[in-house]
Amino acid sequence: MKAVYEEPRVDRVEPAERRPVTYSRSITLVLTHDCPWHCRYCGFRTDGEGLLAEAEIERILKEAKEGGAREALLISGERPGTMSHIRDELNRRGDSDFLGFANRVAERCAEAGLFPHGNFGRMTEEEFGRVRPHFVSMGMMLESVLDDPMCAPEKKVAGRKAGIEAAGLAKVPFTSGILVGWGESQLSRMKSLEVLAEIHSRYGHLQEILIQRYVPNAGSSWPAGAAPTLEEYRQMIDAWRDWAPGVAIQIPPNLESRWEELLGELDDLGGISWARDEVNPNRPWERVEYYKRRCMNQGRMLQERLPVYESHCSEEWLTDRWMEKVRKFRERKR
Ligand code: SF4
Repeated sequence: MKAVYEEPRVDRVEPAERRPVTYSRSITLVLTHDCPWHCRYCGFRTDGEGLLAEAEIERILKEAKEGGAREALLISGERPGTMSHIRDELNRRGDSDFLGFANRVAERCAEAGLFPHGNFGRMTEEEFGRVRPHFVSMGMMLESVLDDPMCAPEKKVAGRKAGIEAAGLAKVPFTSGILVGWGESQLSRMKSLEVLAEIHSRYGHLQEILIQRYVPNAGSSWPAGAAPTLEEYRQMIDAWRDWAPGVAIQIPPNLESRWEELLGELDDLGGISWARDEVNPNRPWERVEYYKRRCMNQGRMLQERLPVYESHCSEEWLTDRWMEKVRKFRERKR
């Protein structure tokens, strides 16, 4: 019998019409918006909000089950555990530190049948090693090779590169990408992609990259700049295919209104949720059926994937426990 659910293999790049476009049905748990820094473009951070309440975790997990989510995206501000009010709250809840809390929430997600994908900003190899048993994949954007003086120290280019390398050393299936449309040049976009490809050539851990359009949110003090033209998008995609064959390219459709014009080239639409986009709340997604129809109109099938790509579903990248969960998930879908 033919499997209903088949992970697409993107090791070889086949003509677009023969490849499905993928997406992940996800729900987001913001472990905290609190962040010690004030990056100019950020519309996410807060002060003094504290950690996601235990009752709220359970409410979101219930919503995830009802909505049929597979991926639990766990995110936070940068190094929230360095803030004293967060440390106090972690102590009160009995968590050793912020990553201890993140791992505990990830375990609740796994118990609820979800596949946790985490993004907590820059981390060390040792920290990635700590979260690896609890998360099926992790991510952090490179964003750009250009340093913005108003960005958090943790987000300087050298730090971001070190964080992406650390994930590779820790053998964590990883998502990264670049931010476009904030005033950068096409040359800097290409250089940013080149840096990602170079890191990937050493560790092989990138499963996908985002070319993510910058959209200012309430709280962002950085205006949007010129978005890439379609030709510039295609130049980036072509170069990436040469530099990192088999590593999928995602363009989030709620952030780039011209995504359909790029359907012939892209691989993935990213996490799509019926719930709100916690990072870009002004840009909710359409329903999955809408994207399915739009893809079909162009002869491409929209197919669900897990947060970990098939390219990284192996003993090299996943612990035995996650291999087993992926295998059971596939069996259930047959
Ligand atoms: S972008 Fe990240 S590091 Fe910068 S202020 Fe926002 S949450 Fe903090």
